[in-house]
Amino acid sequence: MMRMTVLASGSKGNSTVISSSRTRILVDAGLSCRELLKRMAIAGEDPTQLDAILITHEHQDHVAGLGVLARRLGIPVYFTEPTHRAWVRMMTPRTTMTYAKWLDHIQREKAPRAAAVAAQTYDIAAESASITSVYAEAASLNADAVDATEAREAMDTEDLCDPDAASTPTKADPTHLPAVEFFHSGTHFCIGDIDITPFTIPHDAADPCGFVFASEGIRMALATDLGYMPPNVKAALKRIDVLLLESNHDLEMLRDGPYPWSVKQRVLSRVGHLSNLATAEFLQKDYDGGAAWIVLGHLSESNNAPELARIAAEQALADHPTLLGNRILLAQQGTPLESICL
Ligand SMILES: [Zn+2]
Ligand SMILES: [Zn+2]
Repeated sequence: MMRMTVLASGSKGNSTVISSSRTRILVDAGLSCRELLKRMAIAGEDPTQLDAILITHEHQDHVAGLGVLARRLGIPVYFTEPTHRAWVRMMTPRTTMTYAKWLDHIQREKAPRAAAVAAQTYDIAAESASITSVYAEAASLNADAVDATEAREAMDTEDLCDPDAASTPTKADPTHLPAVEFFHSGTHFCIGDIDITPFTIPHDAADPCGFVFASEGIRMALATDLGYMPPNVKAALKRIDVLLLESNHDLEMLRDGPYPWSVKQRVLSRVGHLSNLATAEFLQKDYDGGAAWIVLGHLSESNNAPELARIAAEQALADHPTLLGNRILLAQQGTPLESICL
C-alpha cells in the first residue's frame, strides 16, 4: 500500500504526505505549523505518525512551517546540503552591521570625540566605548529579531491539537532542528521502507529537487517548481503510478495578468514554473502513460484556472487511451485533496 495526500499546493504553500504501510513522510512544510496540523487532521493524517520531513527547496512556500513543525514533532529533516545552508541563511537574523552602516556610525561617534579632543580630554577609553556601543546596538538588533521569532513561534504553537503544546520549550534559534540528514540529488536513499530517488529540477533555488518514492512495488513522484522539462526529469518520471506534476500557469493569463514584468519573466524563465502548455507537451510526447493518477499541482491563483489546466492535460492524454489510468486530479491551495491509495 502507498498513499499520497496533498495537503496544499500553490505559491502560498506546499505540503504532501507520502506513506507506505510502515513509513510516513511529509514532503515540504510550506504552511504554518498550525495550518499543517489542521490540514492533516482534515485529511485523516496523524502527524504523530510522521517519520521525517523531506524538503524540495528553500523557497518560503515550501518551508514556512518547517522549523516549528519539526521541533514540535521531534522528527528529522532531510535536505541537500546546499538547501539546508540556504534555509539557515534565510532564517538567521543579521547579527552584524554592514561595513557601510558601521562606518556611518563611527563617523557620527567621531563628532563628540573631536569636540573632546579639542577640549584636550580625549583618551583611548572613549574610542573603545564607542566601539562597544556599536556591538551593543548590533546585539540588541539581533535580540529584537530573536524576540520576533519567538513571538511568532509562540503564536504558532498555541491552539495546537496537543494539549501539551504550551509546555514545549521555545527555542531561541529558529534554525534548530531535532536532526538533520543530508541527501544528494541523483542518489537514492531510504526512510523506513520507502526508497527515495531525488532528481535535480531547473528552478531558481540553491539545489532544488523532485522525488520518486517507491515501496511495495508502487512508485509515486513529485515534480513541481521547474522551469522546463529537462531530460533527467523526463527519465525520472517513467513507470510512475501516481504523479504530482506542476501545471502552474496559462501563458495568456500570465502575459495579460497582474504580475510585474520582472516577475512574469521569472515565472516564464528556464528556472521558473511549468505552464499548462509545457506540462501538456510532456504528457503528449514524453510521458509513458502508465500512471493511475495524475495530480496537477502548484496552480497559480492569479495566472491559471483549474479547468484550463485540466483541459490542457486531458487533451494531451487523448493519445494514451487506458481504461482506468491517467485520471486527473487538481491539487488545491486552500484544502487538502482526498488521499490517493494504491
Ligand atoms: Zn513553490
Ligand atoms: Zn520554488
